[in-house]
Amino acid sequence: HEQTGRAVERTRRGIFGRLTALFEKADFGEAIWDELEEILIGSDAGLETTTAILDRVRQRARKEGVKQSARVREILRDELIATLREPGGTVPAWSRPDAPAPLVILVVGVNGAGKTTTIAKMAHAFKRDGATVILGAADTFRAAATDQLKVWGERVGVRVVAHQPGADPGAVAFDTLAAAESSRADVVIIDTAGRLHTKSNLMEELKKIDRVIKRKDPSAPHETLLVLDATTGQNGLQQARTFTGAVGVTGIVLAKLDGTAKGGIAFAIAHELGIPVRFIGTGERMEDLAPFDPVEFVDSLLA
Ligand code: GDP
Repeated sequence: HEQTGRAVERTRRGIFGRLTALFEKADFGEAIWDELEEILIGSDAGLETTTAILDRVRQRARKEGVKQSARVREILRDELIATLREPGGTVPAWSRPDAPAPLVILVVGVNGAGKTTTIAKMAHAFKRDGATVILGAADTFRAAATDQLKVWGERVGVRVVAHQPGADPGAVAFDTLAAAESSRADVVIIDTAGRLHTKSNLMEELKKIDRVIKRKDPSAPHETLLVLDATTGQNGLQQARTFTGAVGVTGIVLAKLDGTAKGGIAFAIAHELGIPVRFIGTGERMEDLAPFDPVEFVDSLLA
């Protein structure tokens, strides 16, 4: 909880903090709806999502005939939580009692979003919980990406499977799975390329990696996580659509949430993409990753 609180500190202080003043008035006048709208849009929740949330809050408030700010605040809290739960209550593959072995997680996202750091953080968390982890360096396009993953692998204390720069990313994925099988590893996390602005087709490459993984294990990847940079706000949403169109993204990691006042993007992701946020990035260290909890998130924002 403390970690979530720290991660949304900027969003709370910068934008959601204005809610406190708004709700301090005993009665909730009509003019205040505009201000609520401004606050949500200012946090990058997006116009469509903001409208959907506030329509529901207003409808409920009218139906109940309430004007007291305290009750409107409760209804708003409810609806914010409900929005984050919209993608459905699916349990992530690693939390299922019958979790497959090895559990295969494919990680996608544009360069700079925080992919490599997130992979290291997840590896650290799984290892801390007693699992053996193997990382696959399938961004063979940038030599630096492989090097960076190797450095993290050493720091966290997990094995990294890598090929030469320019090698076939599918072959790296295949070899990582084979290594996991022979060493009976519990978790495989595969890093992928994130060059969105070059002519070579990244989405075709990701689809191919996905196919190679499926040839080895038809049930894999068990999770495909898209890492989004929370500081890019609504732009991240557009990026997300590009990726979800190409590979079946099952969850979002919202990296760098600690570095932005635009944390409301989480509402837009849930409402407009219908994909659950699984983790939030709360800093640059390997410990700085927290599972995403809708209630904690909303209560931290409204604190
Ligand atoms: P990649 O290109 O997507 O693999 O991105 P990196 O993992 O290299 O991360 C890019 C930069 O963002 C690095 O400087 C990271 O330290 C930083 N970063 C990643 N995640 C977080 C986070 O949750 N919070 C903060 N403050 N910085 C982060």
